[in-house]
Amino acid sequence: MLIVFLGPPGAGKGTQAERLAAELGIPHLSTGEMLRQEMQRKTELGERAAAYIHSGHLVPDDLMVDMVTQWLAGGMARNGAILDGFPRTVPQAESLEEALRERGQQVDCVIRLTADRDELRRRLLQRGRLDDNREAIEKRLEVYARQTRPLIDFYHDRGLLEQVDGMGTPEEVFERIQAAIRRRQAMQRP
Ligand code: ATP
Ligand code: MG
Repeated sequence: MLIVFLGPPGAGKGTQAERLAAELGIPHLSTGEMLRQEMQRKTELGERAAAYIHSGHLVPDDLMVDMVTQWLAGGMARNGAILDGFPRTVPQAESLEEALRERGQQVDCVIRLTADRDELRRRLLQRGRLDDNREAIEKRLEVYARQTRPLIDFYHDRGLLEQVDGMGTPEEVFERIQAAIRRRQAMQRP
């Protein structure tokens, strides 16, 4: 299964995607993690991405699409994968569709994780990563609403959306996600 995690910053995508990947035995691609590694290694991509990330903006689509299509070309996702943090814009989703089509694959399920705004702010401030300062957090929430939220309709229209309540303990949320995946699997092979 190729599964996309969608949701605002702080929704818990990273935590849950990692757990689900281990459970299903498929790789987990976090574009945020990958970018942070590039920044640490001071690669050209890392240097180009840093200013966007620290101010709460999105890294330009062409850079992200290159990064993810290269990862897909490595063959890691042959038997499924979890994409966490990508796509984040409609053009990214369209490019992903195209790249997967070329490989005879498609997105099978989109897990939309929700949480209320106060809880998102609380979690991000508590985490305290470099891009988790108050100003960048507000920017990221705003950027999510403007650029990423349209993906909810995009995937809803394709019949791929599973909505999961991201409030509660990580264990509670994970159980909801597993139930959503089971629903999908039952739909795929009736
Ligand atoms: P969560 O807390 O739910 O895991 P997050 O807010 O930590 O989400 P990351 O996915 O770790 O977000 O991404 C951190 C930053 O990396 C983003 O704010 C953005 O600048 C950049 N980034 C990551 N993925 C993308 C993408 N697909 N397109 C553009 N920029 C991206
Ligand atoms: Mg993350």
